[in-house]
Amino acid sequence: EVKKSRTGSIARFDLALARRRQHHVQLGEALREAVEHGDLTLHYQPVEDLHGGGVRSCEGLLRWRHAEWGMVSPADFIPLAEELGLIHRLGLWTIEQACAQARLWHDQGMPLRVAVNISPLQFHVGTLPQAVFAVLERTGLPPAALELEVTESTLIHHQTQVQEQLARLRARGVTIALDDFGTGYSSLSLLQNLQVDKVKLDRSFVRELDTEARQRALVGSLIDLLVKQGVSVVAEGIETQSQYDLLRELGCPLGQGFLMCRPLPADELTRKLRLA
Ligand code: C2E
Ligand code: MG
Ligand code: MG
Ligand code: MG
Repeated sequence: EVKKSRTGSIARFDLALARRRQHHVQLGEALREAVEHGDLTLHYQPVEDLHGGGVRSCEGLLRWRHAEWGMVSPADFIPLAEELGLIHRLGLWTIEQACAQARLWHDQGMPLRVAVNISPLQFHVGTLPQAVFAVLERTGLPPAALELEVTESTLIHHQTQVQEQLARLRARGVTIALDDFGTGYSSLSLLQNLQVDKVKLDRSFVRELDTEARQRALVGSLIDLLVKQGVSVVAEGIETQSQYDLLRELGCPLGQGFLMCRPLPADELTRKLRLA
């Protein structure tokens, strides 16, 4: 029984929906193939010491260029990878790539630390720490050169299981960073109980710094509080010189953003840092 309104609008809507679903399925199939064939790449965005210490770490960000559709954003394909159960394989591949690249940089006399984003689902199996340690051993990268970025949703759900895994990673010297701080349910009490070495202030905080005096005061107090607790802070999404200057004045230790550098392929970043 086909549903149809007098104007036929429902039928048209269903057609659009079907097309979207069809595209979703095609995108999923293409992603599965790309993951199997290792067709994705990692770009790296440097994190800069805002007080003159240069660049000592960078964040690995996945890139997928589809032959037909062009660049697909990780904001679109990461949720798809999660939905299709591809995230475990993709996540591990990403850690392996990033560690191998960091090892290469170390061998070239550029001891950069590397940060990898971890999906909440990667904690569900319970074997993430072992998998990470195996990669560190295979690549010969010191654990202190690896950072894992987790989100608030990772920390909130399955708390004990996640905490236990984070504790094991930290005990080996892997750094844990809380990503996109300020976008979710962030509360300071959450931070106190958690196994986190570093907090990344979401760019929504940074965006309003120029215009909102109250936002400046809030961000300033937040930075003070975190730094006093021994937690390092990275401001994300710095796009203007005035944001950069304000964050420096507020005592923010580290920053990342298009103003300093966009995410780049590893070889381009190597050249850029050599020249710096
Ligand atoms: P994220 O981890 O918060 O990464 C920062 C995002 O901000 C990146 O977007 C980066 O390109 C962008 N960005 C950096 N500086 C600026 C700036 O100055 N202005 C603006 N407007 N944006 C800036 P990207 O690469 O599109 O990644 C989006 C999200 O996708 C990431 O957010 C992360 O949540 C996810 N993602 C990327 N790679 C991976 C991965 O390997 N694994 C997982 N699980 N997620 C990933
Ligand atoms: Mg991140
Ligand atoms: Mg972020
Ligand atoms: Mg994000």
